[in-house]
Amino acid sequence: KEGAFLEIQTTLYDQNDHLIFIRDVTRLQLLEQMRKDFVANASHELKTPLTVIKGYLETLGMFKDNLPQSMQRGIDNMADQSERMENLIEDLLLLSRLESNDKRENDTWLQVSDIFTAIEKMAQPILHPDHTLSFSVEEGAQVHGSYNELYSAFSNLVVNAIKYSPNGGEINVRWESDDVSGCFAVQDEGLGIDPRYIPRLTERFFRVDKGRSSKTGGTGLGLAIVKHVLLHHSAKLQIRSQPNYGSTFSCHFPANRVKNITSLDNASGK
Ligand code: ADP
Repeated sequence: KEGAFLEIQTTLYDQNDHLIFIRDVTRLQLLEQMRKDFVANASHELKTPLTVIKGYLETLGMFKDNLPQSMQRGIDNMADQSERMENLIEDLLLLSRLESNDKRENDTWLQVSDIFTAIEKMAQPILHPDHTLSFSVEEGAQVHGSYNELYSAFSNLVVNAIKYSPNGGEINVRWESDDVSGCFAVQDEGLGIDPRYIPRLTERFFRVDKGRSSKTGGTGLGLAIVKHVLLHHSAKLQIRSQPNYGSTFSCHFPANRVKNITSLDNASGK
């Protein structure tokens, strides 16, 4: 049938024979496309009214000092909630873009240290005095991919490490590579995660502790974004964690996505 989506699976039946299963998944594909389109359109449509609300709130905020305290608290609350809604819409739109492969920018060779510099700048204002944030990357390390996508994925992991380390502690961000692979890792000494939840962490809106996560201002989409970005880069996410001791989130990139240009290579024009 033209335009049909088929799922084909083969299994060894006995020594010489194979069983082939063919399933028509056209309807499932159509439903999935409808879901993707709905999320993308709804998120886009929510942007305009929210921009108007935020504009009026900003104007109200300018006259806040002349209002009774209960109204001042109300305005602050509305501003916080509209900020949360804006982050949620931005994350939904980013996920929709990641799901529709056709709108991707071209991959290029990127300096890992440039991504680290931008992440450090983003993280400074949200750090707590008891956090120590350290970065390590070899000079000349490069990764092949989309700057915006990798920045989103890596910064989500760093923001999580900060959010879920409420008592402070060390957060180490590193890039390690050799001839066969490259690895971006974020290690924290925070709350850690119960092992039974680890397989579900990259599902949209999955949170280990809903109360705590909504207080920390997350959208519940961060790790879903990380998963999609890594899929685009043929990379794999590994999560190691121990409750009350901390977590390490590592992104493993294949050899063709990684290289190291030393100053010597640059001088010889390699
Ligand atoms: P959120 O916006 O809730 O942070 P994420 O998709 O980024 O959403 O993360 C999903 C859940 O995984 C979080 O709600 C939290 O429970 C858990 N989590 C993520 N990163 C960490 C971490 N570094 N330490 C402990 N828990 C984490």
